[in-house]
Amino acid sequence: MSNKYSFFGAVEKSFDKAAKFTKWDKGILEQIRQCNAVYQMRFPIKRDDGSIEVIEAYRVQHSHHKAPCKGGIRFAAEVNQDEVMALAALMTYKCTIVNVPFGGAKGGIKIDPKKYSPFELEKITRRYTSELIRKKFIGPGTDVPAPDYGTGEREMSWILDTYSAMHPGEIDAAGCVTGKPISQGGVRGRREATGLGVFFGIREVCNMPDIMDKLGLPTGVEGKKVIVQGLGNVGYHSAKFFQDAKAKIIALAEYEGAIWNENGLDVDAVFQHRKKTGSILNFPGANNFAKTGEALEMECDILIPAALENVIDGKNAPNVKAKLIGEAANGPLTPEADEVFAKKGIIVVPDMYLNAGGVTVSYFEWLKNLSHVRYGRMEKRFTENMNSQILSQMEELSNKKVTDSARQMILHGPDEIDLVYSGLEETMINATREIMETWKDNPAIPDMRTAAYVVAINKVATAYSELGIFP
Ligand code: GLU
Repeated sequence: MSNKYSFFGAVEKSFDKAAKFTKWDKGILEQIRQCNAVYQMRFPIKRDDGSIEVIEAYRVQHSHHKAPCKGGIRFAAEVNQDEVMALAALMTYKCTIVNVPFGGAKGGIKIDPKKYSPFELEKITRRYTSELIRKKFIGPGTDVPAPDYGTGEREMSWILDTYSAMHPGEIDAAGCVTGKPISQGGVRGRREATGLGVFFGIREVCNMPDIMDKLGLPTGVEGKKVIVQGLGNVGYHSAKFFQDAKAKIIALAEYEGAIWNENGLDVDAVFQHRKKTGSILNFPGANNFAKTGEALEMECDILIPAALENVIDGKNAPNVKAKLIGEAANGPLTPEADEVFAKKGIIVVPDMYLNAGGVTVSYFEWLKNLSHVRYGRMEKRFTENMNSQILSQMEELSNKKVTDSARQMILHGPDEIDLVYSGLEETMINATREIMETWKDNPAIPDMRTAAYVVAINKVATAYSELGIFP
């Protein structure tokens, strides 16, 4: 366990801060706060050089108020029980805020994936899955993992394959894990889902005139100066969607360094440059920061930490000059940083709902797996035929023709990607509005994170009490 800083302790602190604004009994609050099941495991693997290594891994189920439990699996050298517990708790709150009917869970394997060959990683992932099966910690109705930091579609296929091999004939087996490749039952749009959700969430906040007035900013995303820390799946896609919406990405940071250009950086070009040279630094036309951390302190409108937890704390928070911070990562700000920003009037859009795009689209994937049919398959052609009928009637009545591009848009029936994107957009807009309403209804609530926790606590507590556990 980390002895310097407890991430789970930070989550508990934020929870307690919000619990004061709810009416629930102490016992109910305590039940919500705690992790229901913590599975810590050790297993051996043979490395490519013949040596044997004992791997440390975890799966934590934070809440069983809904089934299955849901949450990603992280591969990182820093993984520890405290961290996995915190991330599992955040999953519960995240799911409930976006009305995704799952309990929170999280998994972690304490390895630096860069130091292992693909063959070794496959062995580790398959063995981890077998350990989960052994204890019934995985299954479409019990606990459904997904990607997180250091894992992706490849690892999810190994998990599915291991699970299916051990559950022959289980028709819903594909629903045992999400974030799979399309060919293995994945859903279109899952890869970019977290980044897109971050964009939809922040865009909604930027469209609120009262909030923008307070920050001294015009409404809308266009022209806003954005800094993104982390160019992994979440950071890359967040940056890309902001760029597509005509925001200016003025700085990008990675662990090896950070770069800036007041006129804006092209996200794809930077991504390719990093792939080619192995570093984000020395991108043509951009300036290098002397230290990576300086990127967090540059003047901007929106700062998006999209890597790991605990990057902004009580020490560097006073130097942050952003007006709005969007937590794309899980837990990038400590409670001490929250205090600094609340005092300064900086709005922090909190992780546990802002990065819920991933799990929201995981939910769509799980539903697809259980229903065994691709989204849009049944209605696409029917909708197109109907639209065509309506359009020709209107053209006949008005004696006018619409343009070719308008015709294409009006006739188009929904594909899977259209439905996933619009389902996610609806989810993020509603969640943003619900949190803001709660905040406005109770002006004593100090910040948006606390408001989000209040929403989450109320929903989980209602579920518990209506389950009859707390009559
Ligand atoms: N790991 C992601 C998260 O932290 C996704 C979880 C999921 O899709 O279940 O939200």
